[in-house]
Amino acid sequence: MSDTIFDLDKVDENIRNSELVYDEMEDCFMQSYYLGSCLNIMPSGKYYLPFACSNVTEEEAEKDHEYYVLMEAELDEINAHITSGEGDPTDMFITRQYDIDGVIALLELNIRKCSNDIYLIDSREDIKELTKLGYDIDNINCGFSDEYVVCEKCNKAIYVYSSMPDCATINESELLCGDCIREDKTKQEQLIEDVINNPKRAIAILTEKILEEHGFKKCSCDSEGNICKFETGLHTHMTDDPTKILENAISRNPYKEYIFEVTDANMFGVEYTIWNRDKNME
Ligand SMILES: [Zn+2]
Repeated sequence: MSDTIFDLDKVDENIRNSELVYDEMEDCFMQSYYLGSCLNIMPSGKYYLPFACSNVTEEEAEKDHEYYVLMEAELDEINAHITSGEGDPTDMFITRQYDIDGVIALLELNIRKCSNDIYLIDSREDIKELTKLGYDIDNINCGFSDEYVVCEKCNKAIYVYSSMPDCATINESELLCGDCIREDKTKQEQLIEDVINNPKRAIAILTEKILEEHGFKKCSCDSEGNICKFETGLHTHMTDDPTKILENAISRNPYKEYIFEVTDANMFGVEYTIWNRDKNME
C-alpha cells in the first residue's frame, strides 16, 4: 500500500473543496482541481501527442502510459479521473463528475426522486441551487410534492389531481400504487375488505378480471338486464346516492356483499357501477 501514487483521502478532500460547476455541453456537474503540469508529473517529464512523432522514446511512452493507467485506477476508487486543461493541455486536473442524482445527493437538496423518474420538490427554493449553477430544471421531470403521493412499496410518484389516480390506501395506512396492488392478491383482498358494503369508498384500480377472480359479478338488476350505472356529481341529473343504492341492494339481497367501482370521473362528476358476490366466499 505504501507505493500508491495518491493519498486518496487528501484527493477526495481537495475535490470536495473545489467549486462545483455545471457543464452544459457534457450535461454533467463537476468538481475539478489542478494537479500539476504533466511535465512534472509523468515519468518522462514530457508532453506528447500519442499520434504524432515526438521527442518521447517508445520506452518513455510505455512508462508514461503505465503510470497513467495506475493513476486512473487509483482515482477510480474514489470516483474521480484525470482531465487535461482546456487552455493548456499539459495541465492535469483531477475531476469528479456528477449526474443530476449525484449532485442532488452532494448538495443534500430537498428533492426526492421517485422510481418513475419524477423528482418531487416542496418548493421552488429546493431547485435554486441547481438553477444557480446554470442547470435547466426542465431537463428533469419535476413535480410539487403536495400534488403527488408516493407508493410505499415501489416508490412511484402518482399525480393525485388526475380524475382517477392509480393508487389506493389499504387498511387506512398503506398507500400503494395500482400496479403494486394488481400484482398482489393479498393486497387486492385487503382493498376489497376496505370497500365492501361501504358507500363512501369505491375502487377504480382493479381490473374486471381481478374482480371476477375474487368472485364478483357486475350488478345487472334492472328489468332488461343492463349493467347498473350511476352518476353522482354537479349536474342536475347526477343525483344517484351511493348510500341509498347500497341500502336498496342489501335489502333486495342480503346474502350478497357489494362494492362500488368508479368507471369514469371528471371534474363534474363520477360514474360508477356496483359489483356483488355471495357472502362468505372464502
Ligand atoms: Zn407501487
